[in-house]
Amino acid sequence: MPELPEVEATRRHLEPILVGAQIAGVDVRRLRMVRRQENPADFAARLCGRRIGALDRHGKYLLGRLEGDFTWVTHLGMSGRIRVAEAGEIEDPHTNVVIDLTAGPQIRFVDPRTFGFMAAYTPDEYGRSSLAALGRDAFCDLPPSADLAQLLHGRSAPIKALLLDQRLLAGLGNIYADEVLYRAGISPHRPGGSLTLSEVTALWGSIGPVLKAGLVAGGTSLGDLAYLLPDGRAGDHMARLGVYGRTAEACRSCGTPITAAVLRGRTTHWCPECQE
Ligand SMILES: [Zn+2]
Repeated sequence: MPELPEVEATRRHLEPILVGAQIAGVDVRRLRMVRRQENPADFAARLCGRRIGALDRHGKYLLGRLEGDFTWVTHLGMSGRIRVAEAGEIEDPHTNVVIDLTAGPQIRFVDPRTFGFMAAYTPDEYGRSSLAALGRDAFCDLPPSADLAQLLHGRSAPIKALLLDQRLLAGLGNIYADEVLYRAGISPHRPGGSLTLSEVTALWGSIGPVLKAGLVAGGTSLGDLAYLLPDGRAGDHMARLGVYGRTAEACRSCGTPITAAVLRGRTTHWCPECQE
C-alpha cells in the first residue's frame, strides 16, 4: 500500500506537469473510483475546464487545488498508482480514471483492487470528509517530540498500531511504521503510553530520516509492483529496508533473525534483539 514516501514521490513527479495546467476532460470508467463524492457525477463536472493552482499532500492524500475553491483529492488505496502517458499510448490494465489536460500528457489512475478513490470537494465537503480528521503530516509538519509524547500519553494500544492511526499522525503505513520502530530500537508491541521521554525522542528522531530515505529512493515497490512511479519506474527502496519483508533474514545491525507476527491485523516485523 502506498504510504507517505510513495505519495510524495508521485506528487513531486506530477507537480511540474499539473501546476498551472487546465483540465480538458475526465473519463471515469469505474464509478466506484468516485464513490466518496456525494454526487458521483460532480467529479467530472467540477474538474473540467479548471486550472490547477497547486499540488499538495497531506499524509497519504494528494490534493490538487483547483480554481473555484475545489480540492481534487486522490487516495491510492491498497494498489493504486498514477501513470503519466501520452494520449494514445497503450493503457495499463485497470486504468479506471483518465484525466486529459488542454496541453500535456494524460494522468491515468490505475487501481486493480479499487480501494483508492478520487473526489472533488468543496471546502464544506472537505470539512466533512475523513481528511478533516487527519493528524499532522509526519514529514512536512511533524509535531515537536513533546507533542508526540502528549499524543501517546496514557495510550494502552501497541505503539505500532498508534503509528498507523492517521488521526494521530498522517502518512505512516505498515512498511514505514515497522522501519521507524526498528531505527528507534522500540518494540512494536509496547503500549504507546509506556514509552519513556527518551524513547519518544528516539521515535520522533527516526520518523524524518526513515521517510526521507524512502522518498529519495522513489518509494518502496514490493514484489507485486503494485506501486510504481508515474513514469513507470519501480521505487528502489525495498533493498534498503531494515526489517519490513525481511522475516528470518539477519538483522543488519546484530545478525539476529528478523521476527514477524500479526499485530492488530497487520504483519509486523522487528528485531527481537535491537528493539525493546
Ligand atoms: Zn538486531
